[in-house]
Amino acid sequence: MSAEAQATLAEFVSEPAPDFDASGLCVTTPRFRLRNKSRAQAREWYWNEYDRDSYECPTCGGDGPFDVHHRDGDPLNNHPLNLVAICWLCHKSEHRRRRAVQRVQDWKDDYSDIIEVDA
Ligand SMILES: [Zn+2]
Ligand SMILES: [Zn+2]
Repeated sequence: MSAEAQATLAEFVSEPAPDFDASGLCVTTPRFRLRNKSRAQAREWYWNEYDRDSYECPTCGGDGPFDVHHRDGDPLNNHPLNLVAICWLCHKSEHRRRRAVQRVQDWKDDYSDIIEVDA
């Protein structure tokens, strides 16, 4: 794996960096820890349920490495139907796609505030 790919992977699979205040104290919220715990549980459940060695990415057929993705975007929702392991590349593009969709939605929302439509 290239250094660039490795860096991208590290950035993507790592949890968001904890925040530190000016005095250097970690001000990470309990919610941040809760999400990490929930993600860990999701991974544990998923790889108990599925065979990691023979697993193929349902999106591209690749052989990983895999991330366990929350379909609804909520890392606290570990319902089995909400979890799917996809390879890190597909995971990355899935979240990129979602952000793009969200941007369009935000834009539409803003736009509808500006424009008054006469019926
Ligand atoms: Zn894939
Ligand atoms: Zn995801």
